[in-house]
Order: sequence, then C-alpha cells, then structure tokens
Amino acid sequence: MKNLNNNESRQISLNRANELKSRIEDYLVAKKNITVGLDQQEQIEQKKQELLKLLGGTEDDWNNWKWQLSNRISDVNLLTKVIKLSNNEIEAIKKVGEKFRWSISPYYASLIDDNDMYSAIKLMAIPAGVEVLSAEGEADPMAEEFTNPAGSITRRYPDRLIVNVTNECAMYCRHCQRRRNIGSEDNHKPREVLQESIDYIRNNPEIRDVLITGGDPLTLSDNMLDWLLEQLHSIPTVDYIRIGSRTLVTMPQRITDNLVNILKKYPPIFINTHFNHSAEITKESKAACEKLANAGIPLGNQAVLLNGINNDKYVMRLLNQELLKCRVRPYYIFHAKHVMGTTHFNTSVDDGIEIMEYLRGYTSGMAIPTYIINAPNGNGKTPILPQYLISRGKDYVKIRTWENKVFDYPNHPTKPIRELL
Ligand code: SF4
Repeated sequence: MKNLNNNESRQISLNRANELKSRIEDYLVAKKNITVGLDQQEQIEQKKQELLKLLGGTEDDWNNWKWQLSNRISDVNLLTKVIKLSNNEIEAIKKVGEKFRWSISPYYASLIDDNDMYSAIKLMAIPAGVEVLSAEGEADPMAEEFTNPAGSITRRYPDRLIVNVTNECAMYCRHCQRRRNIGSEDNHKPREVLQESIDYIRNNPEIRDVLITGGDPLTLSDNMLDWLLEQLHSIPTVDYIRIGSRTLVTMPQRITDNLVNILKKYPPIFINTHFNHSAEITKESKAACEKLANAGIPLGNQAVLLNGINNDKYVMRLLNQELLKCRVRPYYIFHAKHVMGTTHFNTSVDDGIEIMEYLRGYTSGMAIPTYIINAPNGNGKTPILPQYLISRGKDYVKIRTWENKVFDYPNHPTKPIRELL
C-alpha cells in the first residue's frame, strides 16, 4: 500500500469500521428477540413461588439440591398444575411416559414460559408425542456396549476414558443422547463396579485423562464423590479429571460450598456442562458457574445442536457470548446423533456449518466452540468446519476469509531450523 498521510489513513480506517459495523447489524436486531434467562427473573420468581406452594416447600428447600432432586416432577397431574398444557399435550405426555422416563426439577420447571408453546426450555423438558410416533433412530449409535473393557468404563481413545457413575439426572432431557441408560429407575453404580473401573485405570498407565459422567455424576452424594475423586487423584499416571454435569443448568443448587471444597482438594479438575440456549442462563445458573470458577475450576460447555432450540446462527452466537460472561468457555457443539425417541431434534449438517460460518470473524475466537460429528459406532469425534482452505498450488494455498475474500498464501516446505541459523 502506498504511503498515505494521516487523514487518508484515518478515512480508510473509518470506511473499514463502517463496513464491520454493517456486518453485525442483523445480529443486533435478531438478538433482541432471543430469550436470556437473566432477563426473565421476575417471571421465573413468580413460577418458583407457585411451585413452592404446590410442593409445600420453603425457600430453604428450594435452595437444597436434595429437595430439588426428591421433588422432581414426573406426574402429569402435577405438571398440569405447574404449566398450561392442552389436552393433546397431556395425552402425549402420558403416552410417552409409558416408554420413556421424564422428570423435571422444580428449578428447571420454573423456567418454563406458559405463553410460548415452542420455547426452547419447554421443548427440552416436556415430553412430546413425536417421541413415540417415530420408530427412527438407534438406542446406542455410539456402540458404547462394545467399548467397555472393565467396570463402568467407556474407552474410545488411546489416552483417556469415561467412567460412568450413575444414570440419575436432575432432569431427563428430551434430547438426551444417552436415553437408553436412563431406564425406569435411578441407579448409582455400586462401589465394586467403580472400584473395578479405578483398578483398570491404575493398571493401564497410558490413561492420563479421566472423564466422570453418567447420567449426571453430581447426583452422587458428596461422600461418594469425595471417595471417587480421591481414588482417581491418587493414581500417579492420571494427569487430570474431568466431570460432565448438566446440574449447573438443571439444578444449580447442587453447586454447594461443600461440593466446591471437595473438588478443590483434587486439582486439576475441569467441569464441562451443557447449556443449549441462553434462556437457561439465569441468576442461579450463573451463580453456580461463578462459584466453581472462583474456586479455580475451569468450565467448558458442550452444547448439542437441536432442531427448534438452537439451530440458528444468532441463537448460538448469543449463547456462546452469554456463556463467556458466566466464565464458561464454549467447547463443543455436538451434532445430535440419531437416537431413538429424539430424532425430531436432528438437524442437517448444513445447519451446523452455517452456525460455524457466522461465528468465525463475527465474534471472538473465545466464543467459538468446535462443531463435532461423532462418527458412527464410536469411531471418534470428527470436527466439521466451513471450507477455508480452497485449494493448494505448488508453493501456495488458496484461502478464504470469514468475509469470503480469497487470497493466495505462500506455502513452502519447512526447512530444519539448524539450516536456517
Ligand atoms: S442431564 Fe445429560 S445425561 Fe441427563 S438426561 Fe439430560 S442430557 Fe441426558
């Protein structure tokens, strides 16, 4: 670029700034119509009071995770007292209930907006007739049954594995990708099964990363978690422990001082949670995230791409930006698997690619998770991206930027550093 004086440079900068401004105008308009839980506190509080009255609970009960867990709503008659449902919806819930379990923590029920039949929260919490109408989908598309070498382990990778500790959750999400594990009753894995899993990890020193999941592992008692973490932490070849939990979203009362003190004893621990929509970001869920972050526990989010909930470039951008405000780093967007009873939530892969296209460049890299398709039969996470590398020449690559500008970029073989010094 030729030498320019200050005024000319400033003018170019102003023109570019205006161009950039125009790239965000559509989002600024669209996001005004996307629900953020934090903006709904008055309505949530009102529903909470109704629920407390109905369930005969107190404010202290509400803040007690054990009360939340033992008062999960799983009776359709009770549900009709909590939210407005049509006769068709009531019949559908009864029918679905015969095949698939459903249950909603009072806290999550307080987020349901009666006036929006298709709200993201409602779709994730309330059974819909379509779950049993379609025979599509598999029970176990990841073939987890064939990746269980011992105890309650799932092993799909060389250096890491999963320990499944329970099938219990604060809510049985309608989109659950592990639906087959939910069954008809809550079962924590017996201590002997966990011990067998721990022994396997101890005897296989290449395992350096252990993910505790379920169900939701934070439905385990503090004592049980303390024991399990202590055991895993004592294995010298385990570098760190990860916990996958949606309680931050569905029952944030679980993040107590006592739990945080237990987690702090076994660093490094990472928690990955599962927010799918900004409507799930409330005063309570944000406080739970902050409590963990203040204790030095890094937080990530694993969203699932779901039809009618977040398969929208603006909804997903807002979710990721709001998560960062709660100190949760967007980590993955999972393409929804073809799981029995949930296929109405499946989207095209194109939806996911479009979302990624409108994240890169439009918002900071911190707010951009990796979009993943889990390859069939447990063949591993496969990242999917819009195409930025268009072609390769002999000594260049052709790249495309987030604004669709195309450039040739030099690509010469790397010379050994010793030859260059
Ligand atoms: S919390 Fe997770 S495991 Fe439990 S039902 Fe929801 S998605 Fe499934």
